[in-house]
Amino acid sequence: MMNAPAGEVRRTWSLALLRLSVWLGLWAIIGFFIGQIAWALLAGLSIYTAGHLLFAYQLHRWLAKPRIEPREGLGVWQEIYTELYRLKQRNRRRKRRLKDIVSEFQASTAALPDGAVVIDGRGRIVWFNQAAAVILALRAGQDNGQRIVNLIRHPRFGEFMVSAALDGTMAELEIPAPANEANTVLLRIVPYGDGQRLLVARDVSDQKRLESTRRDFVANASHELRTPLTVLRGYLEIMNEDAGESGALAAWQRPLREMSAQSQRMGRIIDSLLRLARLEAEGMHQRQEAIDIGEMIRQVVDGLKRHEARDHVFELDLQPGLNLYGRASELESVIANLAANAARYSPAASTIRIAWQAEAGGALLSVADNGPGIAPEHIPRLTERFYRVDSGRKASDGGTGLGLAIVKHSLEHHESELIIDSEPGAGSTFSARFPHSRLIIEDAA
Ligand code: ADP
Repeated sequence: MMNAPAGEVRRTWSLALLRLSVWLGLWAIIGFFIGQIAWALLAGLSIYTAGHLLFAYQLHRWLAKPRIEPREGLGVWQEIYTELYRLKQRNRRRKRRLKDIVSEFQASTAALPDGAVVIDGRGRIVWFNQAAAVILALRAGQDNGQRIVNLIRHPRFGEFMVSAALDGTMAELEIPAPANEANTVLLRIVPYGDGQRLLVARDVSDQKRLESTRRDFVANASHELRTPLTVLRGYLEIMNEDAGESGALAAWQRPLREMSAQSQRMGRIIDSLLRLARLEAEGMHQRQEAIDIGEMIRQVVDGLKRHEARDHVFELDLQPGLNLYGRASELESVIANLAANAARYSPAASTIRIAWQAEAGGALLSVADNGPGIAPEHIPRLTERFYRVDSGRKASDGGTGLGLAIVKHSLEHHESELIIDSEPGAGSTFSARFPHSRLIIEDAA
């Protein structure tokens, strides 16, 4: 149904004016005959006004109580009633359409396997679907309007909500499921509208279990390989002693040396795998303390200069008094792996620069070498386990392909990231950027 066109409205009102003129004309004529024109006009106007008042009253009553049938009006009132009736019809249709959309939306989100919770600007629950009720142990009806932080009582959840509202630094949070502590829930926040947020909760327990099975398998396999390898290495050592110029195994000198080198490499791979498994399993629970990173760098460099990097020149640029709160063994493995890589992949006697400095928003640990550099297509993959740019490198170079995976993991435990800046022919800089919250800066005085 369409609105009345503007021309029709004008015509109705012109007709109303004409009617009024005729009405008043009639009363004027009556007044003329009875010699009281003014009184007659007043009477005519009063009747006219009373009529309009009556219709206005009826309209008001109908608007206040739309259930009662509208009385038909006269003249313009008839038109006004028709228009209002059309408006009502249109609204009814729009309402029905909106209701359909809402129920369709609710049906589809209810069928969603992920929990969805709509949260208003003040952190109160506006709506949630069936999956959210199950995953987050929310009670339909009862928990609507409650503050979400009062219902999900994990210590990091409050911080997560604040971060989502401010800058989104904490994009995801994994917590034990409120309904069942043995399960794990992954939470994400999607801000929208005016301060509103959608909390999406996914049950990732199966995925977690699978990951932990894989981790356990790798850890167990590595552990089991250790003993036979130790036996092999023991025999190889004895045989190596016999492989001197005049020994019984003199002819086997080269193969035995190669076997020793390979078995040492296997030992390093197993150690690295066990280290990674440990990092994944318990890294977060290790004790944390304030660590003098400058001192740690000096010790690592001293160690390298005695063995792997005898001929390299190390230039250290360490900010005094800049300490980091973290896990010592993990941070040491970060420094050791980055420094050993710099030495391994750059020519002997070249310079390696290691810096530890505060910067805007945190601190940067960087290790720069003059090595061959890395082509851009390799850079995103370097932290994958066993990923090596030059897979044909000699086993004796000491690499395992796990070093940067360990670095990445250790940094993740310190809310930090690894930044790789390299170009073929221009050397490489591997940096770790630590957040300000982890710094403990001593007064220089
Ligand atoms: P690897 O034990 O092989 O060094 P990593 O995980 O430490 O294993 O490093 C992965 C790969 O990244 C290395 O094989 C190497 O190709 C490349 N890489 C690491 N550090 C450097 C560096 N400083 N310069 C050039 N390439 C590097």
